[in-house]
Amino acid sequence: MALTTEVSTQGGARQDLEGLRCSAVIVGGGQAGLSMSYCLTQRGVDHVLLERDRVAHDWADRRWDSFCLVTPNWQCQLPGFPYAGDDPDGFMIRDEVIRYLEHYAKSFGPPVVEGVTATRLRRDREGCYLVGTSRGELIADHVVLATGPYQVPRMPRLADRLPDELTQIHSSQYRSPDRLPPGEVLVVGTGQSGCQIAEDLHLAGRQVHLAVGSAPRVARFYRGRDVVAWLEDIGYYRKAVSEFADADTVRFRVNHYVTGRDGGRDIDLRAFARDGMRLYGRLNGVFDATLRFAPDLGRNLDNADAVSESIKDSIDSYIDAHHIDAAPEPRYTPVWRPEQEPTQLDLRDTGITSVVWSTGFGRDDRWIEVPVFDGRGYPTHDRGVTSSPGLYFLGLPWQHTWGSGRLSGVADDAAYLTERIVTGPAQRDHLFRWIAGTSTSTYPRDDEWVAPRTVA
Ligand SMILES: Cc1cc2nc3c(=O)[nH]c(=O)nc-3n(C[C@H](O)[C@H](O)[C@H](O)COP(=O)(O)OP(=O)(O)OC[C@H]3O[C@@H](n4cnc5c(N)ncnc54)[C@H](O)[C@@H]3O)c2cc1C
Repeated sequence: MALTTEVSTQGGARQDLEGLRCSAVIVGGGQAGLSMSYCLTQRGVDHVLLERDRVAHDWADRRWDSFCLVTPNWQCQLPGFPYAGDDPDGFMIRDEVIRYLEHYAKSFGPPVVEGVTATRLRRDREGCYLVGTSRGELIADHVVLATGPYQVPRMPRLADRLPDELTQIHSSQYRSPDRLPPGEVLVVGTGQSGCQIAEDLHLAGRQVHLAVGSAPRVARFYRGRDVVAWLEDIGYYRKAVSEFADADTVRFRVNHYVTGRDGGRDIDLRAFARDGMRLYGRLNGVFDATLRFAPDLGRNLDNADAVSESIKDSIDSYIDAHHIDAAPEPRYTPVWRPEQEPTQLDLRDTGITSVVWSTGFGRDDRWIEVPVFDGRGYPTHDRGVTSSPGLYFLGLPWQHTWGSGRLSGVADDAAYLTERIVTGPAQRDHLFRWIAGTSTSTYPRDDEWVAPRTVA
């Protein structure tokens, strides 16, 4: 999709961005960058939106064929463009999400330049930002980095030790069962991607081996409604990250697994196991052709169920407190339990031909030469506002609320940053409450990873 391949400045079209001066540069043409552009457009702030690929690239090129949203359509609340289709409780499939974003862009005509990569960001002595790109250097008073929450596919180093003949891909490269070589498949990781990919392969009749991590799960429906609808009423999605006692860890928490597939349903790994999927604990070693797993499968399954049940407890309390007429529903009973903890698997005894690493993403902000990162390279900010005046992040997971890194909450954050840009107080006077990156940070160590890890 080529929305605009040239930026119009002072009535003329430019191929070259060199020397272009504007109030704001937005980097990233996903939902966050578009939302920011919409808000700046509304306030008459001249700006340019740089996208290295095409608008909605992540949704178009890094999701599998059967992908659909996990969040209900009514949660698609981009600024000025709330979901207006006829299936608010449904879950858009991949191509519908792409169309939603493309229509959004067309609705206000952002000054987007596609196919341009921001390669260097510096601040000059006057306090202006110099944004180096593949098509020249721009100058701006404000820069909004909307480069995505899930940037660099991460695989643990032990992937290097797997036999050469195995096909290894990251979840962001997975498309469909028939694009993998025939044979059994090992899926590592049970965040949202890992569980949905495992299900996709399982439904296609592939023998799946699944290394189960500590991700929690959530039921799709409870007491007559989508759990998301209950949580919306309870106010969970309006709760700011700063209101949590463990704000630092909340930010890096793995998402709950559930699916919107076929109208939405639970993902119950025990049911998969009952139906033939092989489950293991966390993969923690590779020795020759033998995979080693932590003896934590039972515990991980129990914990995932416990989280799901505790969310139901909250819903029950809410229903009771508000005298809501919602029929009671029996609680979940496990349909399968491991007879023993499988701690190793000799690949020579299986027909495993491919591995799908669903082990999350890191960031790569090395091109940003402004000191706004913590010791691990993660952005340090307060609600997206950094300590460098005029530099902002948008679309980070839990930047402000649960929805910040999603289609539901980015609107509030974009509006907040726009207000800062248009009228905000000088940032040097701003009191920063560092949530990530303090010396007392409780962000968990994990020496296998060289950068902060998020899992989708
Ligand atoms: C598998 C998966 C499932 C998800 N499911 C849901 C869901 O059901 N509901 C929901 O609300 N959210 C979901 N999300 C979360 C979130 O909505 C998406 O990750 C979404 O893509 C984030 O939008 P964004 O604009 O912040 O970032 P992105 O969509 O990643 O956009 C960032 C853009 O920046 C560009 N870019 C990066 N660096 C540069 C650079 N240096 N120069 C120029 N351009 C650059 C990239 O090309 C990209 O297009 C899901 C995420 C994943 C990974």
